[in-house]
Amino acid sequence: MQTRRSFIKKSTAVLPVICFSNQVLAGAVSDGGSFPVVISTWNHGLPANQAAWEVLVKGGSSLDAVEAGVRVPEADPEVITVGYGGIPDADGKVTLDACIMDEKGRAGSVTFLEHIKHPISVARLVMEKTPHVMLSGDGALKFALENGFKKENLLTPKMKAAWKKWKKEKRTFSTKINIENQLLENHDTIGMLAIDKEGRLSGACTTSGMGYKLHGRVGDSPIIGAGLFVDGEVGGAVATGSGELVMKTLGSFLVVEMMRNGKSPSEACEEAVKRIAKKIPDYKNHQVGFLALNLKGEYGSFCIQPGFNYAVKNGSTEKLIDAEAWFKTL
Ligand code: ASP
Repeated sequence: MQTRRSFIKKSTAVLPVICFSNQVLAGAVSDGGSFPVVISTWNHGLPANQAAWEVLVKGGSSLDAVEAGVRVPEADPEVITVGYGGIPDADGKVTLDACIMDEKGRAGSVTFLEHIKHPISVARLVMEKTPHVMLSGDGALKFALENGFKKENLLTPKMKAAWKKWKKEKRTFSTKINIENQLLENHDTIGMLAIDKEGRLSGACTTSGMGYKLHGRVGDSPIIGAGLFVDGEVGGAVATGSGELVMKTLGSFLVVEMMRNGKSPSEACEEAVKRIAKKIPDYKNHQVGFLALNLKGEYGSFCIQPGFNYAVKNGSTEKLIDAEAWFKTL
């Protein structure tokens, strides 16, 4: 299995010569077909799925499961792309984006939130306690503090040192895949989808966003329809990678609509990648991965570059899967 780090290394070497025009895509294959089930993006999905699974096996709701699941990488300083210990922005501030959505179509989101370790739980409260969907920046922080969340310093010494080094080297931020201007893995949101014993599907998405982004930048992850979308009659989808591409194509909504029209989860994800390839001229310099789950418990994925993987857990399996990619080699 290819690790994120080896992907970055390989990508740096060969990306400029990639050409896709004659590419023939093999049909993407979906898997699964039972629930409860939980799926989530990247390696950090494994421990996150485990936490979600503990809720699901006890008969808990998928909403509780996805919240519990993504709180694991949010709290883990070794996961430098989500929550506490996340890579800061260009000004050295850790700013977080997150959203949550359930099968009833309820949704909550926070963007550009500082100092709160668990933005997903604030997003859930926005959904449950306010008439709004999204709170941002200082307003989101005020809401969190008023609701009992603790103000914390999320910038770890390791990430502070990395940021200082980045500043000293006068590196500039580029939304391009970010492999050419970063040595660290610097963007890998956790997006999670789960179906509980009663067949209810929910999703959560949380990130510190692109490393060294401009202060104030918000990505796709907290945008309902972009980083996450759930339709209780169809299924759900999450996205990871260059958020700008996902926002311009409303990727997760598109994946769910494709499933509504009869595509399997993998085929739907492939269609969303094709849409990006058609609409965004420099897409080949980026990574985007989609992950989807339908109401039968079937799951699938598709991405631009090889290297995106996801974690699955249901009653019969627990594994990491490499997603099929538009570009077959790096
Ligand atoms: N989609 C996230 C963002 O653009 C980053 C990622 O998933 O890698 O903020």
